[in-house]
Amino acid sequence: MNNIKIIIGLFLLCVILILLFVLSRRRDYTSVEVSKLSDNIWLMNDNDDATGYIVVGKDKAAVIDTMYGRDNIYKVVRTVTALPVIVINTHGHIDHIYGNAYFDEVYIHPDDINIAGIAYGYPQYMEIKRNLKKDVAFKITKEGDRFDLGGITLEIYDLPGHTPGGICILDREDRVLFTGDSINRHCWMQLNECSSLEDFYIALQRLNFIRNDYDYILHGHAKGFEDASLYEKHMAAVKEVIDKVNADTDQDYTYFGGICKIHYSSDDVAVVYNP
Ligand SMILES: [Zn+2]
Ligand SMILES: [Zn+2]
Repeated sequence: MNNIKIIIGLFLLCVILILLFVLSRRRDYTSVEVSKLSDNIWLMNDNDDATGYIVVGKDKAAVIDTMYGRDNIYKVVRTVTALPVIVINTHGHIDHIYGNAYFDEVYIHPDDINIAGIAYGYPQYMEIKRNLKKDVAFKITKEGDRFDLGGITLEIYDLPGHTPGGICILDREDRVLFTGDSINRHCWMQLNECSSLEDFYIALQRLNFIRNDYDYILHGHAKGFEDASLYEKHMAAVKEVIDKVNADTDQDYTYFGGICKIHYSSDDVAVVYNP
């Protein structure tokens, strides 16, 4: 009889220990995976839908894009650093800004505030905000601004095209350019807020003056470092669409706004556009 009591007691003890273990492992986030890319840079992968970054200096850290905000991005960032944090949006699209809700203020280019404002009106964001019960202030940033993180300087460069207020962020010490969706492998240029491809090409060409200042590109949907030559590949793909290179082989592309076209360059860069 005593043996049975001991066995039941041990069984209950095991159940309690397992429960305690499971509860201690519970997180406030489930879909954002954090991985370290270099000494100072972490990648946040939001369910393979969008990518954000944490750049950690000696005095401050910067969060570059906050993705869909399905998880508490502030808590995700706190798993990497306890330093004061500044948040910068590469542009105003929903897949890069909804996690703003977890912070007090966010830097964005003034020409993308309207786009972000419209995105904030959608039900998904209202739901996130309802739970947090606080407002996020936008602060303005644009070309020429520098953010000193202590040993790391982030510099802002304008790259309008994908959106009017798209920016690139240069990490001068790590020689990395953060490009959001303005330079990537699958660029949407069919949206109402996109510029003409010709204007985008001119804006891309202009950015050539910082081409020798970075070796890597981290864009808004990357899984890791891309070589800096993605800049030239991206520009070449845009030029191909302008020049209608192999346009007859471009496939239809369906998105939430309708049907347009997609062009794949020989360098594996896709540009989505209105024919
Ligand atoms: Zn975008
Ligand atoms: Zn995006």
